[in-house]
Amino acid sequence: MASYLRPTDLSDAIDALAVGGLTVIAGATDYYPAQVGRRNNHDILDISAIEALSGISSDDAFWRIGAMATWRDLMDAELPSCFDGLKTAARQIGGAQIQNTATIAGNLCNASPAADGVPPLLSLDARVVLEDRSGAREMPLADFIQGNRRTALNEGQLLTGIKVPRELEQGRSGFIKLGARSYLVISIVMVAGLVLLDEDSLVRQAYISIGACSEVAQRLPELEAALMGQPLSSDIVAKGHFAGLRPLDDHRGTAAYRLDASETLTRRLLERLAA
Ligand SMILES: Cc1cc2nc3c(=O)[nH]c(=O)nc-3n(C[C@H](O)[C@H](O)[C@H](O)COP(=O)(O)OP(=O)(O)OC[C@H]3O[C@@H](n4cnc5c(N)ncnc54)[C@H](O)[C@@H]3O)c2cc1C
Repeated sequence: MASYLRPTDLSDAIDALAVGGLTVIAGATDYYPAQVGRRNNHDILDISAIEALSGISSDDAFWRIGAMATWRDLMDAELPSCFDGLKTAARQIGGAQIQNTATIAGNLCNASPAADGVPPLLSLDARVVLEDRSGAREMPLADFIQGNRRTALNEGQLLTGIKVPRELEQGRSGFIKLGARSYLVISIVMVAGLVLLDEDSLVRQAYISIGACSEVAQRLPELEAALMGQPLSSDIVAKGHFAGLRPLDDHRGTAAYRLDASETLTRRLLERLAA
């Protein structure tokens, strides 16, 4: 018979995971829909009662989003402008019930190409903290998500938090999602951006990311480089900046439509950030 563990201590969860064979659930909003029509006999490790994984906090160098922080927690938190893009994404994830239950970390671990949390967190230069019995280690989010539903999580590891460098906190940020309708919809394309301007209003740093246009959401390094040292303007955007994307043709949109939409949404986002 399948087992169901719901520890309150992080160390108990890590010890249980080390034994092997457990499936982690947080909000379970990706996990349970994926079980429809299947015989579900997984041994479950439910991390939702672990206080140490909750909330959003900061120290001198980083903001930390706990593995049990929900989209609602993020929306309700007082956060600097660099989080505006992630908050905009949060407001469009599912409906209120999903936002109250689903976690930001679960969105990353599920590693869907259409996960709305990934582009804004790439644009926040986020790192993930992975823990097992041997301790904690960090890696950039860009290295953590390795493919469609594939991450760098090893057996026995738990993602315990997401870190965002505080040096970005004065950045202007935004997010635009394109779906077949405005709400409760899987993204066809989404774009997230964060820019820091210098005292002359020239771009000092830029992080622009596109989701749902390749197996893994991607930053646009050529566009970011072209923006550096320039006044913030959508005029800088060129087709070539999107050449690294490999969008799918599917029932939501053709590859050509997705590429075209990426460019249009990126221009729109930069116009909003410049305004
Ligand atoms: C009606 C509905 C609407 C939705 N709308 C959207 C949407 O608009 N945009 C969007 O991006 N997503 C959407 N989702 C998907 C889902 O809600 C999100 O991806 C959510 O953030 C997942 O979080 P969770 O805590 O529920 O993850 P869970 O379902 O608990 O976990 C997801 C996966 O990650 C693993 N996991 C979770 N936490 C950890 C951890 N700390 N360490 C290691 N592994 C972990 C689990 O084992 C599982 O494989 C929707 C889902 C539903 C049901």
